[in-house]
Amino acid sequence: MALLGIPLLAVVSISPDGVELAAIAVCAIFVAGLLFLIATPSITLLASPPGFISTLAKHADHIGLWVLPVAVVAWFAVANPGLRAVLLTAMVVELAWYLRRRHVFHRRRLRPLGGRDFAALEGQAEGNIKAFARKHRIGELVFAEKTVSWHGCTKESAACPGYFYVTGLGINTPPCCREHLGALCLLVAEYLSEEGIVHWMDGGTLLGAVREGGDILAWEDDVDIAFVLEEEQLWDGLVAGLGRRLAGEGLLMTTTRSHGLICVFNEAPRPWPLSYERNRLRGEVRVDLVLYRVASSNGQSVVERMSPKGALERTESGGYGLPRDVVLPPSTVTFLGKEVSAPRDADAYLRHIYGDYAKTRYTYMDAQQVKRRPPIEADRG
Ligand SMILES: [Zn+2]
Repeated sequence: MALLGIPLLAVVSISPDGVELAAIAVCAIFVAGLLFLIATPSITLLASPPGFISTLAKHADHIGLWVLPVAVVAWFAVANPGLRAVLLTAMVVELAWYLRRRHVFHRRRLRPLGGRDFAALEGQAEGNIKAFARKHRIGELVFAEKTVSWHGCTKESAACPGYFYVTGLGINTPPCCREHLGALCLLVAEYLSEEGIVHWMDGGTLLGAVREGGDILAWEDDVDIAFVLEEEQLWDGLVAGLGRRLAGEGLLMTTTRSHGLICVFNEAPRPWPLSYERNRLRGEVRVDLVLYRVASSNGQSVVERMSPKGALERTESGGYGLPRDVVLPPSTVTFLGKEVSAPRDADAYLRHIYGDYAKTRYTYMDAQQVKRRPPIEADRG
C-alpha cells in the first residue's frame, strides 16, 4: 500500500497552487475505495463475510467500472492535474482489465458436466442449477436442453474463479482448471526427472493419486511437489534451468528462497497492473514446489521442510518433517495415466500429514457448503 500510496500522494501534491488537501483526500478515498472493491473476492474467503461483500464479489469482473461516475464527479469537482492523472489512469486500467476478461472469455470452450462435478453442483443447487447459477452469477454455466456445460478456461485464458466456487459455493474445481493443473504438474515433474532431481508428489496431489485412483482431488486448488537438493547451492541452478524451461512454455515462476518455495503458474506475466494479485484471489493454475532437506533430528534421520504441512512434526532444527525411510528412496505412483515419483511408503507418508486419510476432509471449503455436499461415493463422505 505504501508503495502505491507515496507516489500517488506525490503526484497529487504537485499543483501550481501548492499543496491541495482536498485533492489528496479525494485521491486517497478514491484509490482506497477502488482497491476495496477489487479485493472483495478475497474478503469472501474469510470466515463469515458480511452479505454486502459477497454481493460485491459477484460483480468482480466489472466492479472496477462502477467507480466511473465517481471519477467523473471528482474530475470536475477538484481541478488538480495530479488527481486527474490518477483518475484517468485508474479508469484506463479498469477498462483494460474488463475488456481483457471479456476477450479471454470468448476464447473459452464448452465441456459437458458429468459424474461427480454434476452431482456436486446439483447437490449445492438443491436440484435447481439454473436458479443457483443465476443467484451466484456463475457465468461459466451454459444450459442446453438436456446438458449442463462449463464454459471453461483454456491455457491461453485466465483460470476460472475457482476459489470462489470451491470455497464459497462448495462445488468442484472446474474440470478445465483441473485438466490444466494436471498438465502443469506432469510438465514440472518431467523436468525434475530429466534433471535427476529427487522429488515426489506431496500433500493433496499425492492424496489424489493414492486415494482417488490416480486422479486430481475434485476440489483441488493447486499441485504440490516436494524435492530435495544434494547441496544448497544447487538451488540457483534449478531456478535458472526451470525458469528457462517454463519461459519456453509461456509460464510464470516465482521463488521464495527463505521458505524453499517455487511457485509455477499457468499464466504468463502480463503487463496489466495488479493482474497477478487479482488472479491469485480468483483462481489460478499453480504448482507449489517445496524444498525438503535430509537432516538429523533427535537422533533420527528425517526429511524436513521449512513451512508447516498438515500434522508433520516439529524437527530439532525448527522445521517440519518425518522419518527419512518413509520418503527415500522414492517409489512411483500412477497419476493421470503417467508414472510419477512418490514417497517410498506413500501410505505412511499420507498418515504423517493427514492421519486417517481415507476420510474426506474439505479443508478449505465453507463449513455450510460441506454439509450440503451430496454423499458421493468417490468423495468418501
Ligand atoms: Zn477453468
